[in-house]
Amino acid sequence: MNRKYRRPVIAGNWKMNMTPSETRDYLARFRAELPKGRWCDIVLCVPAVCIPAAVKGAKDSRICVGAQNCSAFSSGAYTGEISTAMLTDAGCKYVILGHSERRAMGETDADVNAKLKAALAAGLTPIVCCGESLAQRESGVTEEWISMQVKCALEGIDPARIRDVVIAYEPIWAIGTGRTATPEQAQEVCAHIRAVLRKLWGAKLARSVSILYGGSMNERNAADLLARPDVDGGLIGGASLVPEKLIAIIRAAQRDA
Ligand code: PEP
Repeated sequence: MNRKYRRPVIAGNWKMNMTPSETRDYLARFRAELPKGRWCDIVLCVPAVCIPAAVKGAKDSRICVGAQNCSAFSSGAYTGEISTAMLTDAGCKYVILGHSERRAMGETDADVNAKLKAALAAGLTPIVCCGESLAQRESGVTEEWISMQVKCALEGIDPARIRDVVIAYEPIWAIGTGRTATPEQAQEVCAHIRAVLRKLWGAKLARSVSILYGGSMNERNAADLLARPDVDGGLIGGASLVPEKLIAIIRAAQRDA
């Protein structure tokens, strides 16, 4: 983490877990244990139906609520979709875009780019995910693949808005598998993402963008991952479902302060 230029972000991705009642209980437990210091932004990306309960439970705290997806369209005949205006009106500040689980359901780079533009226009902070498969890593194309995903996601974005985007490097082989990237692997790819940003928009903008690592991050491995200079935080799935575990990761981010 480099706190001089960017703010660390610890974000939980609950995926399709938790009901609204469970969300209420979680927030009560989480707030009771949350340390007072403000060394990182804290985000809970919850299922859409849990957003009202999460926003209520996070009221007057420094916890931000995020969604796990949004529509690129502003309104209309898109059954089952949720617009960015609906999310902001409900109290969301962040939205995860291009998670590999959504890409596996058919989301394309062009979709991610359109959603990113919609999110920024609405004042949401997008957490844009990128990551390679095991086959891609083993065949040595990780950097090319990540460059392509990052460039496609950010295509056509006003340079003045780049610092409002958070990028999450999430190797697909590490998500939900218990097989975490080593701190060296995480650093290598996060530094590569920053190099891509530097080439596109220069050093000043590149160093202002928070780049997170995600993939089986937990309370035991977080400190080592977060100690790397280009790893500015974490996107955490499984471990974020247990308030005490997410708090331990937040404390690990403090150790690096
Ligand atoms: C995720 O869903 O973004 C994720 C990183 O999951 P996990 O921490 O469970 O690997």
